Amino acid sequence: MDSPAKTNLYGLDRPALEAWSEAREQPRFRAGQIYRWMYGRQRLDPNEWTDLPGALRERIVAEHVVETGQLAERLEASDGTIKYRVELPGSGSVESVYMVQDERVTLCISSQVGCALGCDFCMTARMGLVRHLTAGEILGQAAMIRDDRGLHERPFNIVFMGMGEPLHNYDAVLSAVRTLTDPEGFGLSRKRITVSTVGLVPAIDKLAAEPVRPRLAVSLNATTDEQRDALMPVNRRYPLAVLRESLRRYAQHTGDTFTFEYVMLAGVNDSDDDVRRLARLAHGLPVKINLIPFNEVPGELPYRSPSRDRVFAVRDALLGRNVRTSIRWSRGADARAACGQLALESGKHKPKREASS
Ligand code: SAH
Repeated sequence: MDSPAKTNLYGLDRPALEAWSEAREQPRFRAGQIYRWMYGRQRLDPNEWTDLPGALRERIVAEHVVETGQLAERLEASDGTIKYRVELPGSGSVESVYMVQDERVTLCISSQVGCALGCDFCMTARMGLVRHLTAGEILGQAAMIRDDRGLHERPFNIVFMGMGEPLHNYDAVLSAVRTLTDPEGFGLSRKRITVSTVGLVPAIDKLAAEPVRPRLAVSLNATTDEQRDALMPVNRRYPLAVLRESLRRYAQHTGDTFTFEYVMLAGVNDSDDDVRRLARLAHGLPVKINLIPFNEVPGELPYRSPSRDRVFAVRDALLGRNVRTSIRWSRGADARAACGQLALESGKHKPKREASS
């Protein structure tokens, strides 16, 4: 082949499509037309983009592909949760999860192949960071599941709680968020989109200044620096006091509320002292705590899930201290689709830390 490799048009956001149009001496409104076809209407064959001149359509087909990726595998859990393996148009694959609860549809999507943050209780961490996803690869997951589940007329929620640390892939994630919330894109309310982070403080500060902000969830998971250092190495860079102060600034600057996610690890971070410290950390912040009973991965992770009674007791103790608290019971566990269980099981990504000797 003598022509250069075709580039993927899918994932270009408005400013990028405007630059693309300008470079081809097309009027600016072409960007909006292409944008609506790709993201609003989910029509990925440029031959169907009937409001474009024929010559331009031909040129697009000659120079570009429009690819979201492939749904390579679908695993359905007994509660209706579906875990998808998505083969990326670039290289490699990620997992995305479809959940329904009380009529509410939530898609859990990935922002990276693997993850660099090394949390001790998370399966994805064991892959290490393979690479960042592009905005198109992030949107593609939502687009494919929207198509597969027939969600075009139905609003849904998106949580960046799949593989990866979304704020470590800041630009691509924010570009995807803008297209998800654009009325001519996916048209979702920003309140339906949640970005979950380990607590990268500079990125939280940056997010506070974004004109289009998703909702923020922070994985707290511990109540002392000593404990959090051990569970989440990122805490050595941004210890609890620094993280808490950045969230206070965030809330003050944006007027938004946020969530603390707290993965409960039996005997590790679920004591009565933890409850007291957790209430103190939440005090004075517009925060709701989401308790997540640990999803066990037997044979791979040494942590255990607390009993149901203990989960309820911790919730009640927090409520008793006037801390807004809810429990997120696991979904999709029998398809290994639950929080922290997403990691590709193909031989390519062996767990990093196997028992040595
Ligand atoms: N990197 C981001 C988003 C991905 S993890 C973050 O850390 O927030 C999404 C949530 O799943 C996080 O709150 C994480 O603490 C939690 N989690 C990870 N492993 C888990 C497990 N085995 N059981 C329950 N929750 C888990």
